[in-house]
Amino acid sequence: MRKTLQPQPGIMDIAVYTGGAAHIDGVREAVKLSSNENPFGAGDRAVEAYRRAGHSMHRYPSTDHAALRRAIAETHGLDAARIICGVGSDEVITFLCQAYAGVGDEVLYSQHGFLMYRISALAAGATPVAAPEIDRTTDVDALLAAVTPRTRLVFVANPNNPTGTMIPVSELERLAQGLPDNVLLVIDGAYAEYVEDYDGGAGLVDALGNVVMTRTFSKAYGLGGLRVGWGYGPAAVIDVLNRVRGPFNLSNMQLEVAEAAVRDREHLERSQTENARMRAWLAEALSALGVPCDPSYANFVLARFADQADAESCDLFLQREGLIVRRVGSYGLPECLRITVGDEATCRRVVHAVAQFKGQR
Ligand SMILES: *Cc1c(COP(=O)(O)O)cnc(C)c1O
Repeated sequence: MRKTLQPQPGIMDIAVYTGGAAHIDGVREAVKLSSNENPFGAGDRAVEAYRRAGHSMHRYPSTDHAALRRAIAETHGLDAARIICGVGSDEVITFLCQAYAGVGDEVLYSQHGFLMYRISALAAGATPVAAPEIDRTTDVDALLAAVTPRTRLVFVANPNNPTGTMIPVSELERLAQGLPDNVLLVIDGAYAEYVEDYDGGAGLVDALGNVVMTRTFSKAYGLGGLRVGWGYGPAAVIDVLNRVRGPFNLSNMQLEVAEAAVRDREHLERSQTENARMRAWLAEALSALGVPCDPSYANFVLARFADQADAESCDLFLQREGLIVRRVGSYGLPECLRITVGDEATCRRVVHAVAQFKGQR
């Protein structure tokens, strides 16, 4: 390659994202608990919509996503005009960084925040900045203390991945109100559906002028492979994001399946109920085995081991049992394993395997 051919500053600092593993060599039917996928898969209505949408593959999709935005707005009680849809919420995060942060600007998030914030900040040429957490939980004071004149965006996943912890809406509000006028707070609600009586931050979007909420169909709706997410924000911000969004960013298939999914409340409620039940059971059973977890508000638990070596040998033991969980060293948590809450049989398998691992030492 010619020496003069150089990518934009920051790009080579990006470590390529590796998703949760899906296979184990030599194991036929491994159970994947490494990507926080819904153990019940997509709902029937989404699958039906997928089949129907196959008939319109030769048509270009809608550019304004009006039908999907209307469905989202109706179910969540939001203003459809202030919703933007993207290829996963990852794309909405990318739009935000591209539109609001560039060379010389800072993008702030918390210590164990979702990896895409750093990646999207660097891709936009901006400088990623992490503020410390307290006991693996977002610390509003630390975030406010890390704000500088260069800060443009603050990302808080609530609940956060990979910690599973969250802070109350009152704390998010205190953060938003403590930010300078030229800084936008982004509340990432990828796991909001799993929290009881929580609007993901939508109320703050409506009440304050400097808050954007992102949501996804990848987790509670069981559509990680479809790639649809959305954002809700002030009209002026959504207008900016729509200018950088490709007109055909979502296919007919994505739009129609997501619309069917958001209207299928039965599938969502079953996923929520089962997750809450098995999450509590899993966390308690692991704790009883000497593997504590912080209270999780999402569809996974962060299991804490004695040290990195202990976590890694348990991971290898689980792999031999056909169970794939997620190492989180890249999040600065090498002594932990993130385990997605599966269905009851799977959770029981996990606990049984961890018990065997503990017993043999
Ligand atoms: C999974 C996840 C997302 C969602 O990503 P998609 O692109 O919508 O699949 C966003 N934020 C966090 C914190 C996540 O864990």
